[in-house]
Amino acid sequence: MIFNPQKECENKESRKKMQFALLKNLVEHVYNSVPFYKAKFDAAGIKPADIKCLEDIAKLPFTTKSDLRETYPYGLLAVPQADIVEIHMSSGTTGTPVVDAYTERDLDDWAEAMARTLSGAGACHTDTVQNAYGYGLFTGGMGVHHGAKKLGATIIPISSGNTEKQLMLMRDFNTTLFSCTPSYAMYMAERAKELGIDIKSLPVRAGLFGAEPWSEGIRKKIEEDWNIKAYDVYGLTEITGPGVAFECEYQAGMHVNEDLFYPEIINPDTGEPVPDGTKGELVFTTLTKQGTPLIRYRTRDITFIIPEECSCGRTTRRIHRLFGRTDDMLIIRGVNVFPSQIENALVEIHGVEPNYQIIVDRNAQTHLDDAELHVEVSESQFSDETKDLESLRSKIDNVMKSKLGIHLKIKLVEPKSIERSTGKSKRVIDKRTY
Ligand code: ADP
Ligand code: ZN
Repeated sequence: MIFNPQKECENKESRKKMQFALLKNLVEHVYNSVPFYKAKFDAAGIKPADIKCLEDIAKLPFTTKSDLRETYPYGLLAVPQADIVEIHMSSGTTGTPVVDAYTERDLDDWAEAMARTLSGAGACHTDTVQNAYGYGLFTGGMGVHHGAKKLGATIIPISSGNTEKQLMLMRDFNTTLFSCTPSYAMYMAERAKELGIDIKSLPVRAGLFGAEPWSEGIRKKIEEDWNIKAYDVYGLTEITGPGVAFECEYQAGMHVNEDLFYPEIINPDTGEPVPDGTKGELVFTTLTKQGTPLIRYRTRDITFIIPEECSCGRTTRRIHRLFGRTDDMLIIRGVNVFPSQIENALVEIHGVEPNYQIIVDRNAQTHLDDAELHVEVSESQFSDETKDLESLRSKIDNVMKSKLGIHLKIKLVEPKSIERSTGKSKRVIDKRTY
C-alpha cells in the first residue's frame, strides 16, 4: 500500500515546483535567522535572491559533519529553543556525536516519512511492529516508533537486546514485522538456533533493516533464515533519522522522500554535481525542517540515483543500496576497498560465516597500510585438522584476490569469537595513529 499517494505519486513537474518553493523559503529563512548560514553564504558570495531555480541549489555551499560538531549543541537552531520538543544525537560511529533538534512539525514529517517506509515494507494498521532498534538518543528506535504510531499499527517498543524475550514476544503477540540492524537480525537467528527455536515458524512476514551497511548476500541469508522479506531503510540523524529513503515491494533501490529531503550526488573529490545514474557522494537538503535545517549536507555515503520510474507507482527517485561510506573506505596498497565488498564475497564461501573484522594498521617500516581480515569458521567446518583449515584459508585468499584485486592477510578465527552486536556492528578496527 502507498501511504500517501498524493505526495509519493505526484507528477514530477509539480513536485519540482514545490521543491523549489520550499528551497527558496528555506534559504531566506536560514540566511536571516542562523548566523552560521549567513557567514557561510556571505563567504561564498551568495545571496538568497541568487536562487532562481531548483538547479541553483548547486551554487550554495555544503554543510559538513565538522560544521555540525563546531556548532554543538545549538548553533544551527533556526527556531526559538522553546519550540523544540525532542532531541536526538548520532551514535558516534565515527567520532563526536552531532545533534538533531525537532519541532512538533518536524516530528510529524519524520512520522510521515517512516509511515511511508513501513507501508513500503507492506505494513498497515492491522500489523504488529516489534521495534528492536535501540530507543534513546539514537534515531532508530524513536523513528520507527513515530512512524508505526502514525500508521496505526500495534507497536512493541522492546528496544535492542534481550534476544530470548524478543523471540518470545514475536510468538506471543503475533509480530508481523520487526525492525533492527541487519547484524542484530543475524544474531537473533543464531541465538534462536542455540535455544532450539524455529524462527521460520514465527508469524513474522517482514523485517525492516538499516542503520548500517549490509550487502545483498546478507539480505538473502536473513530472508532464508527467517523466512521473511527483508527491506532496506536508509537515514541519518543529521537529516532527521531513518525514513529518508526506503524500499518498496520491488526492492530495486530506495525511494527518497523527495518532498522532504532533496537529494544530490556529487563527485566527492571536486564537489561537482554528477548526473543521475553516476556513483558519488549523497548530499541532502532538508526542505521542510524547522529545528535544525541543513543545506547541502554531505553524508559521506556512496550511492547513485536511479531516475527511472518504479513499477510500484511512486514517482520519487530512488537511490541504489548504499555502497558504504567514504570514511569506511580502506585504501590498501592503492586499491579502494569497502567492507561491503568483503561481506559479499564471504557469503558465497562455504565453511565460513559472514562474521568478520578488518584490522587496519600501518607498518612501522614501510609506512604502508596493512589490513588483516579475521573470518569466523562455521561450526560445522571447524576441525582441528590444520590442513583443512589451511585449504579454507587459501580459498578465501583466492576469492578476495579475484574480487578485490589485492591480497589480504587472512586469519581464521573460532566460531562465535567475533563480538556480536545488538545495534550497529563494528567491522573495521583502525589501529593507525595519524
Ligand atoms: P553515525 O554516523 O554515528 O553512525 P547515524 O546513527 O545517524 O550516525 O547513522 C547514519 C549512517 O548510517 C548513514 O550515514 C549511513 O552511513 C549508515 N546507514 C544508515 N542506513 C543505512 C543503510 N540502509 N545502508 C547502509 N548504510 C546505512
Ligand atoms: Zn517502487
